[in-house]
Amino acid sequence: MEINEKSELYLCNTYARNLTLDHGKGSELWDCDGKRYIDFSSGIAVNSFGVSDQLWANAITAQAQKLQHTSNLYYSAPAANLAEQLCLRTGMSKVFFSNSGCEANECAIKVARKHSFDKYGAGRYRIITLTNSFHGRSMATLSATGQPTMHTAFQPILSGFSYATANDIDSVYALVDSHTCAIMLELVQGEGGVVPLEKSFVQAAERLCKANDMALIIDEVQTGVGRSGSLYAFQQFGISPDIVTSAKGLGGGLPIGATLLGARVKNTLTVGSHGSTFGANPVVCAGALSVLERIDDKLLTEITAKSELVKATLSTCSKVKSVTGLGLMLGVEVVGDASEIRQKLQDKGLLVLTAKKKLRLLPALNIPTELLESGLQIIKEILK
Ligand SMILES: *Cc1c(COP(=O)(O)O)cnc(C)c1O
Repeated sequence: MEINEKSELYLCNTYARNLTLDHGKGSELWDCDGKRYIDFSSGIAVNSFGVSDQLWANAITAQAQKLQHTSNLYYSAPAANLAEQLCLRTGMSKVFFSNSGCEANECAIKVARKHSFDKYGAGRYRIITLTNSFHGRSMATLSATGQPTMHTAFQPILSGFSYATANDIDSVYALVDSHTCAIMLELVQGEGGVVPLEKSFVQAAERLCKANDMALIIDEVQTGVGRSGSLYAFQQFGISPDIVTSAKGLGGGLPIGATLLGARVKNTLTVGSHGSTFGANPVVCAGALSVLERIDDKLLTEITAKSELVKATLSTCSKVKSVTGLGLMLGVEVVGDASEIRQKLQDKGLLVLTAKKKLRLLPALNIPTELLESGLQIIKEILK
């Protein structure tokens, strides 16, 4: 049986796919027939330094040969070092490690509720999120996700979430009451169509949180780890969140989730109140450290320059209506059907993603300029 046939037969059919990738190097991938692709997707913003990156592979291999897992009942250097770096570089105070974005957000939701419970007692549990948001697929993070069509088959969803409108602060004010403990935002809605929030809206939400002693949770699962042109996107918005979640690109290709806690909530989680068997895995953390170490000012400047290059190049195409997003997280609003265009690009050797009705570009943070330009040339051929 071919790999695709076997996959359709034995794997749950939760994804629409038609390509079997075999191997890659950097920002180039090859399928099983030997056809080459330029990668503008990084496995959905995961492979921060591209495919089979040597420094990352060295870091995880060395750790795998030393100690691959300890359980969280013991201290371990990779997790301690990674948490230290994350705190020093963000101003956050403590980190809880898990294995995915949705788990990082689950932890954020639990911290917000417990912080409020510890201070005010039961009943102050409501969390405001935005319509069109995406926070994950577990029951709690699905409930936080402001897309009602995704809830339908899984009712009853978790109670205590209400949805305001992005960039409309009055819609947030209208939902705050004495039962509200947090506001949770993506600074650029990723799955929702690469929709950036306005700085004034985000800052007003922060003021609202301060005034009502609510936690500000920023979901940086997609925007984090250099993707936006700063280490975390919140650093461009002039805010100090109480909780920041990170995943996708942090692991460089291995599963990790990180929930960063600010000073006000840093001691909310106590022994036994939360946990994870695989969280803080030494191999994963060693890889993440090698990713984080390389996200320096030079790389961030290059990311911003490449972002400008993509925007300038695509703005000349007649079938491009707009380019939104930050850094190397860009949404391209197109004339025509985004899925059909994505397929045409794949046929021509360029892998991109879609988000709602847009093309979504998430190349590796270190994509060489020549490959970026070659990929853009393919898009120009289709969208002229
Ligand atoms: C991908 C994503 C998630 C979910 O992450 P998983 O690792 O798939 O659980 C949550 N929030 C945002 C903003 C995301 O982009």
